[in-house]
Amino acid sequence: MKIINELNEKLKDASTLEVIEFFLNEYKNKIALASSLGAEDQVLTDMILKTDKSTKIFTLDTGRLNPETYDVMDATNLKYSVKLDVYFPKLDAVENLYKTQGVNGHFESIDNRKNCCKIRKIEPLKRALNGLDVWFTGLRSSQSITREEMKLVEWDEAFGLIKVNPLINWSEKDVWDYIKSNNVPYNKLHDNGYPSIGCAPCTRAIKDGEDIRAGRWWWENPEHKECGLHKK
Ligand code: SF4
Repeated sequence: MKIINELNEKLKDASTLEVIEFFLNEYKNKIALASSLGAEDQVLTDMILKTDKSTKIFTLDTGRLNPETYDVMDATNLKYSVKLDVYFPKLDAVENLYKTQGVNGHFESIDNRKNCCKIRKIEPLKRALNGLDVWFTGLRSSQSITREEMKLVEWDEAFGLIKVNPLINWSEKDVWDYIKSNNVPYNKLHDNGYPSIGCAPCTRAIKDGEDIRAGRWWWENPEHKECGLHKK
């Protein structure tokens, strides 16, 4: 797509902060950060709120999050004097999910797992992105084999808007150096072996040497390990 190529070309030498400033300027009120409250998204939250505090930052409360995730949500609201937007799944859809799949039916098949992600994440995400032109994500290309082909700016076919990955070239060390030097609130599960944090039943700590996405949907093959929020 022409505009995507042009944006990638224009920003190819820009710093992360310059990328953020450019999009916040160009797409004011039509842009948001979708935050999982994980380390990368906390870096972006800090950079975005220091640039323009009125920017929409939202998270999805699937109803299956860890207590530590609510703690970092609270700490973030307090530190920056904001209230992150929270989107919840539709009540009738969750009630029906329980009736058809039970509490943990997502372990029984990939279809069940995708159905749970669709109800608890994808539908609320669609509502959150409705009316926007651009969304920021905290994806890094070195996070998994499903993300190696990412670009800084992409057209998000699934949701019909521009997707920007400002941390695309950051290493895990870059993320943690930024968090520590800027005193950014972070999810304490990261201290206990969780590099990537999602819903409680579908996330676990990893061992030394394991891929950093190995703790997400560990019972599935790597090529299936996205929930539909990000196709890459
Ligand atoms: S990550 Fe697990 S619990 Fe969360 S929505 Fe997906 S299948 Fe359901």
